[in-house]
Amino acid sequence: MSDDAKTPRTTRRKVLGKLGSGMAAALTAPLLTPSVLAQQAAAQPAQAAPPLSVKRNPLTEYPRPPFPKQQQPWPGLASKMVPLPDHGETSYRGSGRLLGRKALVTGGDSGIGRAAAIAFAREGADVAINYLPAEESDAREVITLIRASGRKGVALPGDIRSEAFCIKLVADAVRELGGLDILVNNAGKQQQQPSLIDITTEQFDATFKTNVYAMFWITKAALPHLTAGAAIINTASEQAYDPSANLVDYAQTKACIVSFTKSMAKQLAPRGIRVNAVAPGPIWTPLQVTGGQAPDKIPTFGAQTPMGRAGQPVELAPAYVTLASQESSYATGQVYGVNGGNEQP
Ligand code: NAD
Ligand code: MG
Repeated sequence: MSDDAKTPRTTRRKVLGKLGSGMAAALTAPLLTPSVLAQQAAAQPAQAAPPLSVKRNPLTEYPRPPFPKQQQPWPGLASKMVPLPDHGETSYRGSGRLLGRKALVTGGDSGIGRAAAIAFAREGADVAINYLPAEESDAREVITLIRASGRKGVALPGDIRSEAFCIKLVADAVRELGGLDILVNNAGKQQQQPSLIDITTEQFDATFKTNVYAMFWITKAALPHLTAGAAIINTASEQAYDPSANLVDYAQTKACIVSFTKSMAKQLAPRGIRVNAVAPGPIWTPLQVTGGQAPDKIPTFGAQTPMGRAGQPVELAPAYVTLASQESSYATGQVYGVNGGNEQP
C-alpha cells in the first residue's frame, strides 16, 4: 500500500467531494458557491487535514496533469479554475510563528499571495491584501478566512502600476494595521508570446510596471515604517535563472527581482531588516490560465518537473512563513526555490 493510500489527505477538493455525496449534498449542493466554500473552510480552518506528522507522498498528494483545458480573461479568478487551487483553506495550521505581526501582501486575493495571506493569519498576523478591483470576489474569500482566524483582514484594491496608488497602498496598510512588519511583493503579470516581435511596448511596460516598478515604489514607501525584525519577501521565479523562450519580458523582471532582493538585503542588513525572495516553479494559479501559458500547454502544466506535477499555492506557504519568521533571523539576500525539483543555481 502506498503512503498516500495509507494516509489519505483531506484537501479542499476532497472536502467538497464528501459534501457532494449523501445527505450533505442534498442539503447544501445548490448553495456551494465559492464564497460559501470559503466560509465553510474558514469555520474549520485546521480540522480537515491530518496532522503534519503524518507522512504523505508528495507525488500524489495534489492533482497531477492532465488538467482540463481552460482560459479566463486576465486577471482571472481562482474560484473559476478547475480543479480549484489549494491555498491551504482547509489544511494550513499555524503555531503562533507570526503572532502580532502586521503584513501587507500584494496579489493576496489568489494563488501564491493568497496562500501566504492565509498562512500568515493562521500564524497570528494581521494581514492587508492588495488586488485588482476585478478580483473582489476572490479577495472577499481571503478576508473571510483571515478574519475567521481571529486576525484583522484589510482589503486594499487598486492598480499597482501607478506610483501614486502604491504610496497610498502602503499608507493605508500602515494606518489600518497600525504599522508594518512584513511586506510581500508578490503581485505579478505574465503574458506569454511566442516571439519578441509579438511583445508590444504596452505589454513590456505593463510587465515591468507590475513586477519591478511596483516592487520599487511599494518597498520605498514601506521603508520608513519598517524597524529591526521586519522582513521583506519578494516573489521571484525559476524564470529568473532558466528563462523560457516565450516569456522574455516576464523572465527579465524576475531576474530584476532576484537582483533587487540581494541589493536590498545588503542595504537593510545594518537596520536589522531581512530581504529574501521565493522562486516558485509551475504553480496552479489564475496567472497561468489568463495568458501566462499558451492555452494548449495548460493540460500538461507542471508535467516536465522531476515530480511530474504542478505545485499548489499552499505548498509555497511554509517558505513565506519561514522567511517572515524570527526563526530565519540569519537568512537575508536568499532565494528559496519551491519548484518540484527543477534546477536552480
Ligand atoms: P495569481 O494570478 O493568483 O496572482 C497574481 C496577482 O497579481 C493577481 O491576483 C493580482 O491581484 C495581482 N496583480 C497583477 N497585476 C496587478 C496590478 N496591476 N495591480 C494590482 N495587482 C495586480 O498568480 P500567482 O501565480 O499566484 O502569482 C503570484 C506571483 O507568483 C507572481 O509574481 C508570479 O510572477 C509569481 N510566480 C508564479 C508562478 C506560477 O507558476 N504560478 C511561478 C513563478 C512565479
Ligand atoms: Mg488574482
